[in-house]
Amino acid sequence: MTPSRGRAGSRRRRRILQRDGHRCRECGFPGALEVHHVVPVHAGGGEEDANLETICRGCHLGRHKRPEDEDWRAMVEDLARPS
Ligand SMILES: [Zn+2]
Repeated sequence: MTPSRGRAGSRRRRRILQRDGHRCRECGFPGALEVHHVVPVHAGGGEEDANLETICRGCHLGRHKRPEDEDWRAMVEDLARPS
């Protein structure tokens, strides 16, 4: 079984979110949260808790910089908009 790339299992994801208080560890934003691999899996990072952290989608996309990607900009702008 191959875990889908860039996504932690939902049970682990929930545990990490709980550990981090359901807030982005980067900016404190309490929504659009994702579980991020501190050391990317392709770079030898593991699935252990120590290698996982909660960050919001905006910070996550910032970490995986793809400024050439228009969708990225649209999503970040969308997040910045007050709901
Ligand atoms: Zn953030």
